[in-house]
Formats: sequence, C-alpha cells, structure tokens
Amino acid sequence: MDESINMEYVKVKEKKDNGFGRNNDFLTEDIILTPLYKKIKIDSSIPSCDVLPYNDFRLELFCPECQKRRIFNFQNSSLVRVSWGPRGEQVCNTILNVLHSNNYFSLKAKSDCNHNLLIVFRIVSDNTIEKIGQFPSIYDLNEEINNKQFLKLFDKEYKDYYKTACSLFSFNTCIGALIYLRRIFEKLLLDTFNDNVESLDISLDEFKKLRMEDKVKQLRHLLPQIMFEQGFSQIYSKISDGIHNLSEEECSAMFLVLKAAIEEILIEKMEKSEKIKRQSKISEELSKM
Ligand SMILES: [Zn+2]
Repeated sequence: MDESINMEYVKVKEKKDNGFGRNNDFLTEDIILTPLYKKIKIDSSIPSCDVLPYNDFRLELFCPECQKRRIFNFQNSSLVRVSWGPRGEQVCNTILNVLHSNNYFSLKAKSDCNHNLLIVFRIVSDNTIEKIGQFPSIYDLNEEINNKQFLKLFDKEYKDYYKTACSLFSFNTCIGALIYLRRIFEKLLLDTFNDNVESLDISLDEFKKLRMEDKVKQLRHLLPQIMFEQGFSQIYSKISDGIHNLSEEECSAMFLVLKAAIEEILIEKMEKSEKIKRQSKISEELSKM
C-alpha cells in the first residue's frame, strides 16, 4: 500500500450513464456500514475480483457532504491479477492468494459529486478481514442516522445521546452504545415528569429516588403508550441487562432492535406533542370566530 494517498490523483472511470460496472456481491452498502474492528469472514476460494473492486465497480451510497445518495466509482484494486487461460479466457487470482500475501489493503472511490471515500482493511487470517479505518466515517455514511426527520424536532440532548449511541455502535463498542440508549430513556422520563409536574403529587427529589419501574408506573398515563405494549415494556430491563451482564457481542446483536424501539417511543412522543400543538391552534382560531 502507498504510504500516502492523495485522492486528487486517484484514477477512477467516471461513467455518466446508468449502467453499472462489474458486479460485486461482497462490496455492498452493508460492508461500508459495518463497524470497524468487526471480523468479516470471506470465502477464500472465490476470485479476488469478486471481493475487491475491479473493472469500474460502482456502488450507490449516501454522500454525507451532499446529504444525498450518489454513485461512488471505485479505483480498480491493484491486488486483482488477471491472466489468460488456455482457451483465451480471463483467469483471476483467488482472494486467498491476496489474503495470504498481504497484511493490509485499501479501497478508494470517488463519487459523481467528486467526494472521496477511503477504506483500510487489515487481513486477520486467510478467511477473515476487518476494517481498521474509513473516511467518511461509518456513522456519517449512514443515511438512516443522518436523515432521521424525527430527531430534528428534539432538543440537542436527545440528539447527542442518539448520535453517540449510533457512533459507538459503528466502532463496535456496543455496551457503551447501550448506555446512551438508556440515557434517552431516562431523559424521556425526567422530561415527562417536568412537563407535568403540576398534575403529579410527587416532588422531583422523591421521583428521582424511585426505581425505574416505579418511575414508569408513576408516569404511566403521560408516557407514549407504546412503552406498555408487548415487548416494548422490557426495553429498559433489556438495556440494563446488556450494560451489566452481557458481552459486547450479545449487546451488538440487541442494539439495532433496541434502537428501533426507542425510536418508536420518540416518534410517538413527537406525534403526541404535534397533535396538541395543532389542536390548540385550531381551538384558538375557533374561539376568535
Ligand atoms: Zn457528495
């Protein structure tokens, strides 16, 4: 691998038409969004051009600079070696051949908007690799996180917890990611308490001393009702179990579904407050008639 990489000089074929270059089942958006340091298994018997970019490979990805999906053109990998078979057919070296004789490799791409993508992999063994670096970050390339409309309506503290949770997950730090999901949950309870303090017959100090399940009981009629539905009612205990008892791998397996559940709760909270705003505006206008 070159010691320095100047993306200005990275040559890719920028096709303008819609036809994609060579297909590659390995290099997908999933791989681009896979956390760093997570072991990635590959079938080492397949040709290197089925893993590494070759013959003008292109992939549609979310460009964080443009905040839009763009086509990324990959530089052909110099590790793909093609020779000619006895009947004049193209023969490509196997990926095992590449993995066996290198320690690291990098992929470089440019999008049709001229933004760059660089990924560095470490070769762990003859059938395992891991990403050790990526720019833009996995987190920034994740369209789902960056385009979450509902987050735009929440205050900074919610947004920061949510983004830190996703960011830690992208570094494969999953127990830490769950701690930030728990923070969202706790903030939701505290905000609900503060918003309704006049209608509650308990002080803030008393409330803070309650166990989590008692806090939830106390606020039951004020919280998003989805929190009491099957499965959802266990979110907090699952998150706590993850933080205190489970391994990084077990937490990794739970993270996405717990994140999705927290999102549903936040969405319900948002919809509820929008409904109140909408209705009070109408009632104000009606009273003026
Ligand atoms: Zn762009």
